[in-house]
Amino acid sequence: MNQSVMTGSCLCKRVKYSIETELQEFYFCHCGQCRKVTGSAFASNIQAKPGEIKWLSGAEHVKRFDYPGDRLFTKVFCSECGSGLPFLNKSGKKLFIPAGSLDSEPSILPGHNIFWGDRSSWFEAGLSAPKSEGFVD
Ligand SMILES: [Zn+2]
Ligand SMILES: [Zn+2]
Repeated sequence: MNQSVMTGSCLCKRVKYSIETELQEFYFCHCGQCRKVTGSAFASNIQAKPGEIKWLSGAEHVKRFDYPGDRLFTKVFCSECGSGLPFLNKSGKKLFIPAGSLDSEPSILPGHNIFWGDRSSWFEAGLSAPKSEGFVD
């Protein structure tokens, strides 16, 4: 059982939410859709039991994109700043929380890298690159 109340927000802080649910899995998804929609190497998503997403503010800025076709893929985001926000998937059976949108600490840690075969050719090189604080000149 990982029942917990979590809060989160978007970058511009117009949208704030709270969710009470049971967290099931935390994974990095390397699929092509996640790479496109994040503009990055992978999406950090927490899968949870369906539960109510309470929009504490900015509900009018919450925009939903359902990927056409059979592939269950949805992106919910702030229409002002583009930040990812939680959503119930099309089947209504799973709740997804973009981990980076949370302001509270999740009670679980990443346990899987999914769609590993779809990972970008540069992902692993990035993991072993030198670490620095701030930008590189
Ligand atoms: Zn925003
Ligand atoms: Zn994905």
